[in-house]
Amino acid sequence: MRREQIFARDDYQCVYCGERFEPDALTLDHVQPKMRGGDRSGGNLVTACGGCNARKGSRRLSQFLPDDPVAREHFFALAAKHVWPRILRTVAEEMEKLPRPD
Ligand SMILES: [Zn+2]
Repeated sequence: MRREQIFARDDYQCVYCGERFEPDALTLDHVQPKMRGGDRSGGNLVTACGGCNARKGSRRLSQFLPDDPVAREHFFALAAKHVWPRILRTVAEEMEKLPRPD
């Protein structure tokens, strides 16, 4: 899918902070990274604002979301509408495997 189609599908709303932005402030984010076999289909792409994308940096979602409860809440609420369940399950499973601070 094209960027503009993804932004429109997500109603120009960032899946991490939940705010709406003009298209030129938005970026596409892969839920499953390309290097781990994620593709460029609509079921693997979400809309993220530039600020959230920069905060996430090169971390994987399963590393970023546990550090950011607001992003975590928005992601699972908003992305669940369009991201493939198989990919969401993988993210959730990776988060469970991470060592937790006691
Ligand atoms: Zn954002």
